[in-house]
Amino acid sequence: MIYVKFNRTHYIEDVKSSMNGQEVILGGWVEDLRKMGKMTFLTLRDVTGITQIILTDDIIKSTEDITRQSVVRITGKIQDTRARDFECEIKASEINLLAKAIHPLPIDPIGRLESHIDNRLNSRALDMRNQKTASIFKIRHHTLAALRKSFIEKKFIEITTPKIIGSASEGGANLFSLDYFGKQAYLAQSPQLYKEQMTIGLERVFEISSFYRAEKSHTGRHLSEFTSIDMESAFMSYTDVMDVLEDLVVSTFKYVSENCKKEQETIGNKTIIPNNPFKRITYSHALEELNKKDAKLEFGDDLLDSHLRILGEIYPEFYFLTDWPLKIKPFYISEKEDNAELSESFDLQFGYLELSSGGTRLHNPEKIKMRLSEQNLDPAKFSEHLQAFDWGMPPHAGWGLGLERLLTVIIGIDNVREVILYPRDPERLKP
Ligand code: ATP
Ligand code: MN
Repeated sequence: MIYVKFNRTHYIEDVKSSMNGQEVILGGWVEDLRKMGKMTFLTLRDVTGITQIILTDDIIKSTEDITRQSVVRITGKIQDTRARDFECEIKASEINLLAKAIHPLPIDPIGRLESHIDNRLNSRALDMRNQKTASIFKIRHHTLAALRKSFIEKKFIEITTPKIIGSASEGGANLFSLDYFGKQAYLAQSPQLYKEQMTIGLERVFEISSFYRAEKSHTGRHLSEFTSIDMESAFMSYTDVMDVLEDLVVSTFKYVSENCKKEQETIGNKTIIPNNPFKRITYSHALEELNKKDAKLEFGDDLLDSHLRILGEIYPEFYFLTDWPLKIKPFYISEKEDNAELSESFDLQFGYLELSSGGTRLHNPEKIKMRLSEQNLDPAKFSEHLQAFDWGMPPHAGWGLGLERLLTVIIGIDNVREVILYPRDPERLKP
């Protein structure tokens, strides 16, 4: 192939009919190609949009090499078009094939033929040329931008905590272990202990990172590697951080509704800005509601998927489930002042779906040691974490919110695998 420069002069979205007669150089992928008499109509897509290219026989003798989805560079002049779908078109004076797409392709990247999600995930890079998929990831990008913007406005500082850790930080059995130069190490399941420690000096911190759960869950809401949005703040209690979370969720929906209209339309969805304040329902009240429906739950029972499905029918939108029994909460959660059986804790739900868990944390090291022992965890194994509590640990509270779960709500789909590039689950380690 002859040497060609790769530069473009314009993105497709910047080519306007007001520029008629101007020469432009575009680059992109051949979405469609139709030969009609002495002319070939080519539709060209780049990341910003799609346009029509007119090729005459003196420019293109044969379209044999220019298969659909090949990469081409086109030089031509902007002119009026008769096509309904385009504002203008380009009459090409030159076409260069930069890379050929070999057919058959494993999936139809236009999405005219629906491909099974497994096939799309196996060919994820090609799937990204499907406009629905590309829109999902543009919305993911804007969601992250909105979250960062809100945290920064609230004076939170972004931190990054280790993902390779030397001890099982929350005790749980759902940790991946790995060999670390001959020592046992684990992949972090959350930034919990580190983010709490950081309130000592930075006061308000947040982190957006991947975390790992070795759970054999086969659901639309569990991944082995997921993205957690975490915050922790000194001098706040669980009600304060619920307010922070509610604000963040509402402002994210507003941001997406303003910045992602085109993407939501392509997906076939609309951003519905949630009504606030969100309902706050106590665990005890939820138990009453569930027992009216014959759930036969007793105080202290955890709510199972089947219970959350019932609650989701009663409360189909955003709501907080608060004041859980202390004994089913992790050791770092604080009891309620007026009732030690209850905890200052909450989950944010969207219908049946848990989006976030949080609460007021204990900041008295003696209480933490007691709670560790009650949960059959060895306080000695937490000595590095606990030493920070002897250095002036402020009262603090925080939460963790699953980005992929939040995105399924924003986008209106029900599988977290759709909103993460290369999902990891018990069956899926590649690509
Ligand atoms: P679940 O009971 O639904 O498995 P969890 O209570 O174990 O979740 P937390 O430890 O409370 O999860 O984590 C905080 C948030 O992180 C969750 O509310 C959820 O949004 C997200 N999250 C946790 N585990 C996963 C996972 N395996 N895949 C995707 N998101 C997750
Ligand atoms: Mn939880």
